[in-house]
Amino acid sequence: MPPARPSYWPQRVFVTRDASDDALTQRVLSRLGDVEVVHLDRRADPVTETDFGADAANDASRFDLGKRTLLLTRHEGGWMERCPAGSGNLVCCNLWTVNPGEGCPLDCSYCYLQSYLKRNPTLKLFTNIPDMLSTIEAAANAEPSRLFRIGTGETIDSLVWDPLTDLSSELVPLFGRLSNALLELKTKTALVDQLVDLRSEHNGRTVVSWSLNARVVTEREEVWTAALEDRILAAARCVEAGYRVGFHFDPLIDFDGWQDAYRETVDLIFASVPASRIAWISLGTLRYKREMQQVMRERFPKSTVSLGEQQLGSDNKMRYCQPMRLRLLRFMWDSLKERSADLPVYMCMEGASSWRAVSECSSSEDASLVEIISRKGRTDGAAAEGVFLQ
Ligand code: SF4
Repeated sequence: MPPARPSYWPQRVFVTRDASDDALTQRVLSRLGDVEVVHLDRRADPVTETDFGADAANDASRFDLGKRTLLLTRHEGGWMERCPAGSGNLVCCNLWTVNPGEGCPLDCSYCYLQSYLKRNPTLKLFTNIPDMLSTIEAAANAEPSRLFRIGTGETIDSLVWDPLTDLSSELVPLFGRLSNALLELKTKTALVDQLVDLRSEHNGRTVVSWSLNARVVTEREEVWTAALEDRILAAARCVEAGYRVGFHFDPLIDFDGWQDAYRETVDLIFASVPASRIAWISLGTLRYKREMQQVMRERFPKSTVSLGEQQLGSDNKMRYCQPMRLRLLRFMWDSLKERSADLPVYMCMEGASSWRAVSECSSSEDASLVEIISRKGRTDGAAAEGVFLQ
């Protein structure tokens, strides 16, 4: 019997004319099976730019409709960008992003895509994937002394569409052949069968990472995602297949009993994954654009994420006040470093003062972060020496 169709797969698919003959389009449509397909003459977001979304009355209902709708289209413009999170005064973790699509069929109450994709909420998969692969290869080959750490999980979950696209089966072998590029696949799923099958092709150049949280946050705020234990079990399977793995505690959330709840998740990790196979762990506290609060409350009336003492920053994002942010970060930092002092732990979207307050040194002084931060994007000879810390 074929596996059950996940509930989050789209109910309707739009295909732009230029994408209709692409191999990825054909693959996705054949695997989706019985689904309504609509052809578009031009690229447009079906929910906000065609009559299809005319009955959706507000941002929340447009986003709901977008979550059930998939657009297969070609990507126009550049594929590789520096992660925008490291801009301004924030300490940069030196990540490049490549987005094989936009939007995520999973549904977390705190997801920033609810504001970021407000004007184009339809889920998208880009079908000119050969262009994406050749762009990555050309960039890496053009600068052999630069180390490219490239993530595909910025505006999409890296693995959630794999059963429809087989994308990892193209990306992982490509990075396995590149000597100066490291791929990060970031997910909240447990869809790793295809990665285990690629055990002889990843060549240590792919890190598979999971966004983790306290159990109560996972169960209450992260709809359609894999259970906490299933994510960690999937990480253990990837370790067994020779991959290094990463974890992202982001967003850390303040609620009654958060210390015990986050400690439980840390315990679960180290019960299944050896510290030596962890490439990095990032920490970030809750933040979201103020305009997203309304959408969150309408779409997730039982969510408690937007409650509690939060303040508006100069970037128009809501955050906990600095002492609370530092309590969360410090607790997690200490809990992780107790397990292994050498564990590469870094903070996402925090400035130098937070680094000093939490880690008691600057990011550039922390030897465990050499692969992530200290190179500032350059290998400076490390490529010739074998590049990665495996
Ligand atoms: S898994 Fe990530 S991208 Fe998907 S809905 Fe949750 S936070 Fe957003």
